[in-house]
Amino acid sequence: MGISQTELFPCGECGNQIAIEVHSSLNFSRQPELLEALLLGTLQLGQCEKCQSYLRVEPEFSVVDLKNNIWIGAFPAASLPHWKNCEDVCKKTFDKSFGPTAPEEIQEMGKTITPRMTFGWAALKEKMMLNQLRFDDLVFESAKAQLIESQAAPAPEEASLRLTGLDPQGFIFRWVHHLNDEYLGEKIQAPLNFVQIQQQSPLKKPDINERLKGGFFIDLYKLNSGH
Ligand SMILES: [Zn+2]
Repeated sequence: MGISQTELFPCGECGNQIAIEVHSSLNFSRQPELLEALLLGTLQLGQCEKCQSYLRVEPEFSVVDLKNNIWIGAFPAASLPHWKNCEDVCKKTFDKSFGPTAPEEIQEMGKTITPRMTFGWAALKEKMMLNQLRFDDLVFESAKAQLIESQAAPAPEEASLRLTGLDPQGFIFRWVHHLNDEYLGEKIQAPLNFVQIQQQSPLKKPDINERLKGGFFIDLYKLNSGH
């Protein structure tokens, strides 16, 4: 089972106290309603009783979904520049749960789990959407890099392109600010088979896969952060 507790946060508009359930670990295979809330954007979201403003507490927890073989160390958006340190924390946390000190059957289980790390709500939602769609995130990120290059409009500064939704026409992407998760610019639509299209494109850059893979952090930000 996951771990959570209700905490009070001051409303950004009027200062009134808002009670929000804050999680330190989530187990989506046992609490599917929390996965639903993540995808809907209501996880750790509170509303002020006095002025009706919304307040969302940034993620800082670990997520496990044993049914879908994924583990995620989720950090606040503003921690992104420190991703290397965060990755060390993730490795230790993951090892504690599934490493050599865990019971043997849990260690076995750990071998089938894909460990990941995300920053902010948009990246966490994207990772879980890809997991639900059974998409390889490494392949998806490289296709996304090509999608970005094919755009006529320049990318907004300090932003990452995130998968935010799916409709009959295809995938919906939004530019999201690195440090506060705010949407920037216009949305970008891509057909459902955009990954296959990008893979067959003569512009395909095989080195992107090489540069992204390894570790817990499979994210295009790596390409721009000097590592
Ligand atoms: Zn308020």
